[in-house]
Amino acid sequence: MTHDDAVLKAREIASRVLTPSAGQNDKAGRFSTEAVESLGESGLLGLTMPADVGGSALGPRTLAAVIATLAEADASVAMVYLMHILGAATISAARPRATQIVTPILQEIGAGRHLSTLAFSEAGSRSHFWAPLSRAHRNSNGVRISPKKSWVTSAGHAQSYIVSSLAPEGAGPTDSTLYLLLAQTRGFSVAGPWDGLGLRANASAPVTLDDCEVPSSLQLTDDGAGFPAMLNVVLPLFNLGTAAVALGLCRAALAGTVSHLKNAKFEHLGQSLGESLPTLRAQLAAMQIDTDGLSARIDDLVEHLEKPRETTMLRVLECKAAAGDVAISVTSAAMRACGGAAFSKHLNIERLFRDAHAGAVMAPTGDVLREFIGKSLLGMALF
Ligand SMILES: Cc1cc2nc3c(=O)[nH]c(=O)nc-3n(C[C@H](O)[C@H](O)[C@H](O)COP(=O)(O)OP(=O)(O)OC[C@H]3O[C@@H](n4cnc5c(N)ncnc54)[C@H](O)[C@@H]3O)c2cc1C
Repeated sequence: MTHDDAVLKAREIASRVLTPSAGQNDKAGRFSTEAVESLGESGLLGLTMPADVGGSALGPRTLAAVIATLAEADASVAMVYLMHILGAATISAARPRATQIVTPILQEIGAGRHLSTLAFSEAGSRSHFWAPLSRAHRNSNGVRISPKKSWVTSAGHAQSYIVSSLAPEGAGPTDSTLYLLLAQTRGFSVAGPWDGLGLRANASAPVTLDDCEVPSSLQLTDDGAGFPAMLNVVLPLFNLGTAAVALGLCRAALAGTVSHLKNAKFEHLGQSLGESLPTLRAQLAAMQIDTDGLSARIDDLVEHLEKPRETTMLRVLECKAAAGDVAISVTSAAMRACGGAAFSKHLNIERLFRDAHAGAVMAPTGDVLREFIGKSLLGMALF
């Protein structure tokens, strides 16, 4: 699969599967299994996997384009897809001792039959996902783990979960280890419903692991090496992907606003809203400028990820922080420009507005990113 093939496939799935059901799934809080099946059949679940396990070995440029395309139709599905790509990347980066057991799982991902996700956040450490409170306990086979994970996208739908826990002998708050937990593991359960303000169709429910046994072959990182994997494997793609979700939301808000300003009429004046009101045209222009600015920022991050340099981590931090703000600002402007039609839910704008608020909340939150950027500019330690 080439970059262009991947984007075409994403467009086809967006128009055939996502667009027709996004509104209903949002209303019902329904996870789209059809979307995941289509992503699997098209080969997109294996987009970034190496070719030797059946993947397409495509990089951040294609990933960002595919995610933005999906998000334009349904941001819930785009986020499910992003969390899967992150789970798959973490499995793919597993330590050599896990290779034999994870290879068949990677082949299932390459074949589009396995959905993965991340289970990092815990209620006690909240958005500070790098500091799990639960601790793994060693046994003869590997470890037993009992974390209560507070938000897990695709909970109950994924076939595997990348779970963090403090290493058995870890001394500090970031001395974590990452484990691969298969959905059928005894002790694993979804611990409650998902009824969020936005991204309502992505099943980001809490999950409980009750004394789950994880054999050492499913330990993905060395003891205490979970934190560097979170920073080096997960964070760059997560920040890029959430920025791409934000871009898709902005593009959808722009398209919805253009359509409304062209089609809604002041009949007594014989003009559309757009023809009649320069204030609305100015708001639309500001939305376009912000959306194109975000698109350029994402391209810049892609370039930094393709050719890593000293400023790459700074760009990783900046991109998600900026994207969260832009998505909220552009979708808020759309709500205002489309007025009562948006407020009364006659347009999809209010779904985009609610979905746009998730990006800034998802860790690392916009506030935390700004704190990290400020500290790094001043040469201070981040953790
Ligand atoms: C739709 C959705 C899907 C999610 N999916 C997953 C998933 O698949 N896997 C997973 O592990 N987690 C997931 N999460 C969890 C997410 O990453 C956060 O851990 C979670 O939102 C915690 O939020 P909180 O408001 O409780 O955090 P809190 O830490 O209570 O934050 C509250 C406020 O304090 C601010 N704040 C916190 N720390 C600092 C700081 N150091 N400096 C400045 N400000 C700070 C925050 O920005 C925020 O405004 C998901 C969240 C959402 C909304």
